[in-house]
Amino acid sequence: MYQAPRGTTDILPDDQAEWAEVRSVLDRTAANHGYQRIDTPIFENTDVFARTVGDDTDIVEKEMYNFRDRGNQQLTLRPEGTAAVCRAYLEHGLQNTPQPVRLYYVGPMFRYDRPQAGRYRLFHQLGAEAIGDPSPTVDLEIIQFARTMIDRLGLRETVLTINSIGDPADRASYLDALATYYKPKLAELCGDCNRRYTRNPLRLLDCKQVTCQTHQANAPTTINYLGTDAGSHWEELLAHLDSVGISYTIDPRLVRGLDYYTRTVFELHPSIGSSQSALCAGGRYDGLIAQLGGPPTAGIGFAAGIERIILNRRNQGSSVPKSDSGLSVLAYNGAEGKTRAIILASELRAVGIPIILAPERSLRAQMRYGSGIGAQRVLILGSNELAQGTISIRDMATSQQIEVPLEHIRSAMQE
Ligand code: AMP
Repeated sequence: MYQAPRGTTDILPDDQAEWAEVRSVLDRTAANHGYQRIDTPIFENTDVFARTVGDDTDIVEKEMYNFRDRGNQQLTLRPEGTAAVCRAYLEHGLQNTPQPVRLYYVGPMFRYDRPQAGRYRLFHQLGAEAIGDPSPTVDLEIIQFARTMIDRLGLRETVLTINSIGDPADRASYLDALATYYKPKLAELCGDCNRRYTRNPLRLLDCKQVTCQTHQANAPTTINYLGTDAGSHWEELLAHLDSVGISYTIDPRLVRGLDYYTRTVFELHPSIGSSQSALCAGGRYDGLIAQLGGPPTAGIGFAAGIERIILNRRNQGSSVPKSDSGLSVLAYNGAEGKTRAIILASELRAVGIPIILAPERSLRAQMRYGSGIGAQRVLILGSNELAQGTISIRDMATSQQIEVPLEHIRSAMQE
């Protein structure tokens, strides 16, 4: 028997209410903060990601689903949303509209990752981007958006960690300090970190191996190497966070895996079951649009994984009450009953009453079906009802049954 490909899942009907709730919290929080929805294709030219995310990142090195189509175009199933949104911003001239442009998205992402709880190869991210304004007030807004959304989703005790990795110009002296610190320790670091040392040293701070982590504690921190502009940006953001009462922990080892981040980086983590990775991650990417061939343009955003949000909600014991579908099942007897039932079902649907025909079985089995699918009511067109021009309505919650003239069915249903 076939199974869904490794690292993918089906979202079954019973899960849909929770997914819909997550999307609706996103929509409401976005509207609340003035963000508009954008949808981009689920695949892009490979360069959109390869140029921006960075050659030496896990995503580009080993996780992208690349393929050539029949026209020999080199394409990639999107591993993340930001680069694609920025591509759309440039392509549609959004830089010529009032800045910043506030956009949000939700949709599937693809990474050839090692599947485990909360980590998939096809997963769904929701995210927001504010493009075209370098002000720390926009950093505050994006963090507030993420913070508010996670709170409204009912996720308790999540911790905001924040750091600044400075501007590319500040980074040279920081990377020198990092190299000096790590050079004598290379033999004790894992193979990945030895590679990072030469190719992407910032990510030495990101390693999850225990021995590498012991060395992270005393490594030089980016905050101590911020230039004047990045430094005042950082101070101003912290003051804004304080002024609106958003608590945060400064994490000097938070650097984020992707190349395009500058200055502010942040994550929201569950504090319960702390081995779990971030629910939500984001940061400023003032160099990204230029990497895509556009003019130098500031930007900041975040993304959160829906599967991970739902996993954490369930770990906390939250559940979505089953919404009452209001669905009725129409049971009938014999050929005449069937003909009447088909017509009645379409008449009732036309006036907005949700109804399905029971499967062609005995009346008793049809009633069982109605109860099995959790119908609110079963309508019965049995032989007696047909003879008398009536219809019975059984309320499945109370088992009370009334019989009304067929022509009164609509008003009886709408009561
Ligand atoms: P990133 O784009 O790597 O910064 O990830 C942002 C968020 O997306 C993470 O905090 C997770 O919630 C989610 N995420 C990233 N990778 C995966 C994955 N492979 N499976 C499920 N969720 C993921």
